Amino acid sequence: MFTKILIANRGEIACRVIKTARQMGVQTVAVYSDADKDALHVRQADEAVRLGPAPVVDSYLRGELIIQAALEAGAQAIHPGYGFLSENPDFVDAVEAAGLVFIGPSAQAIRAMGLKDAAKALMVEAGVPVVPGYHGRTQDAAFLAKKAAEIGYPVLIKAVAGGGGKGMRLVEVAPNFLENLASAQAEAQSAFGNADVLIEKYVAAPRHIEMQIFGDGADAIHLFERDCSLQRRHQKVIEEAPAPGMTDEMRAAMGQAAVTAAKAIGYAGAGTVEFIVDGSGPLRPDGFWFMEMNTRLQVEHPVTEAVTGIDLVAWQLRVAAGEALPAAQEDLTLSGHAMEARLYAEDVPAGFLPATGVINHLAFPDDARIDSGVTAGSEISPWYDPMIAKLTVHAADRASCCRALSSALQQTHVAGAVTNLGFLRRLARHHDFVAGDVDTGLIARAGEDLTAALIPTLSEIAIAAVTAAALPRDVLTGFSLWDPLQTVIALAWADRTYHPRLVVHSPDQVDVILDEETVSLTRFGAHWGMPAIRHADCVTVFGAEPIAFTLIDPLDRATTAAAGDTVLAPMPGLVTEMVATPGQHVAAGDRLAVLEAMKMEHVLPAPRDGKVISVAVSAGDQVAAGALMVALEPLS
Ligand code: ADP
Ligand code: ADP
Ligand code: MG
Repeated sequence: MFTKILIANRGEIACRVIKTARQMGVQTVAVYSDADKDALHVRQADEAVRLGPAPVVDSYLRGELIIQAALEAGAQAIHPGYGFLSENPDFVDAVEAAGLVFIGPSAQAIRAMGLKDAAKALMVEAGVPVVPGYHGRTQDAAFLAKKAAEIGYPVLIKAVAGGGGKGMRLVEVAPNFLENLASAQAEAQSAFGNADVLIEKYVAAPRHIEMQIFGDGADAIHLFERDCSLQRRHQKVIEEAPAPGMTDEMRAAMGQAAVTAAKAIGYAGAGTVEFIVDGSGPLRPDGFWFMEMNTRLQVEHPVTEAVTGIDLVAWQLRVAAGEALPAAQEDLTLSGHAMEARLYAEDVPAGFLPATGVINHLAFPDDARIDSGVTAGSEISPWYDPMIAKLTVHAADRASCCRALSSALQQTHVAGAVTNLGFLRRLARHHDFVAGDVDTGLIARAGEDLTAALIPTLSEIAIAAVTAAALPRDVLTGFSLWDPLQTVIALAWADRTYHPRLVVHSPDQVDVILDEETVSLTRFGAHWGMPAIRHADCVTVFGAEPIAFTLIDPLDRATTAAAGDTVLAPMPGLVTEMVATPGQHVAAGDRLAVLEAMKMEHVLPAPRDGKVISVAVSAGDQVAAGALMVALEPLS
């Protein structure tokens, strides 16, 4: 076994790898960017090496610096985590050329699965069922349209180099094909530098079921399935194992196909073979098709660890150190049911917009597995994935597992940033989910029931207002007793603002008046009847769902006076499109620019009717959060 490894990643996955390494007596070296110098993974590792400034191209993607750090620290191997360099075959070659071990598959296996079209061709050859469609070289639009018609609508256009749902378009009917093809190709070209696409049959009521596989280069086994059908915009939200409605026959067929895929490329280490499954009726052994293979440890691996009792990171280290597969297929058993929910700093009602903030309060239940790279006081910065934690629960059967997930989410408290916690709580209680009736369209169909901003109750607004006011105990000093102190607090939540008026009778007795309704609050010890926390300009109230109000400073002219005259970048990102031109007349809601940030595209609309007086940035520019993009003036 290695005596020291370097972890070329950050956040929860770096912490996850450190935990197992420590149990195995292996020393760890962390790497970090300037934004992460106080991060949890840096504190947990035995040593830490600075890579560079916050942007990933200057830090976590600097393969040569990472290899140099490993050599200087005397590490023998590099664990890539997921994302970043984990599926980069050139990095694997460089690691090996430096005499180090890459904890993962060979560069050749990664290359074989890197492009979706080549991977599909390989799978057809190996006899693995693939989604019917066209994955050939010819990219002529008329030819592709003809292929789409032969496959039969609806079809899915996919970028061959795609990932994260990018460059993917669902086309329902033939007349929409060419337009969708052009936009998929353009997106693929800008995101991956490769405009090639493939066309697939769109599977009805699709379910995403993937098999966890493990190989040692010679042999391979599978560790059962995970159902990842709960997705929003092709990104996983809750994953579980086993898959609802799975039969022994179907599992055997999928396991066989996944192991065949792994063996076809001499796979070593942990990997995932993703299948799309026909969910329009009960699962059938001939109703699943290969989609792609992820040649790394997956975000949702804790679900598999819970139902198999196996530590996948320990297996990764053992196989990378030269051991054979630690278990045979027949040694593995499935026990109970597990679910994982991904807690993110994101604004769900605003279209799952990634959020930032300082997490000033973070509490998790004791009876769930928590994988997290942050603690109270950590900042969710705009530079990386805004994940706060993964919560994994394990129970005897699916029904108890659903209850355990709900209860774990209910006992989770986060303050300081907008999160998807309320959305996760609603999803965990959703009747179709609880019934095991899952497919990739569930979240979109449930729509506003899951995603709409909670309308805060008068009590919640009142509690936020008194918490924001932070009334000192000696508040009445200097005021005459017959004239209670009055103050108005301005709060924003979702797209609304509230202006509750506080009438302070005593330091512990306040009336809050909003729209002619009054609530009387009494302070008990540290709080006013419901837990709430203020940090900087964010007040989080823990009612039925956490509500993170923003405190509006009435003295801040910029936020009140000229609201609507400027369009600012909501987060750092790349301007991919600038539609606005100086002199142009626009109406409220018109698309002015497109910003790409954190794996998503954000369309920036005109805040109101007006005339564009200046355009400060253009397509291709990198902008900082808050940067002026477009300025408007009222139409005369
Ligand atoms: P998975 O396919 O493992 O479930 P996701 O679909 O959530 O992962 O993520 C999509 C991609 O984004 C993955 O390929 C993963 O490598 C990358 N990714 C996700 N979270 C992070 C992170 N915190 N840091 C870096 N990369 C990430
Ligand atoms: P990515 O590389 O972006 O992860 P995938 O090929 O894995 O791309 O597809 C992502 C998601 O898109 C799947 O999890 C599934 O929800 C949906 N999807 C992909 N292919 C199909 C298909 N043929 N029919 C229906 N849905 C599909
Ligand atoms: Mg995928």
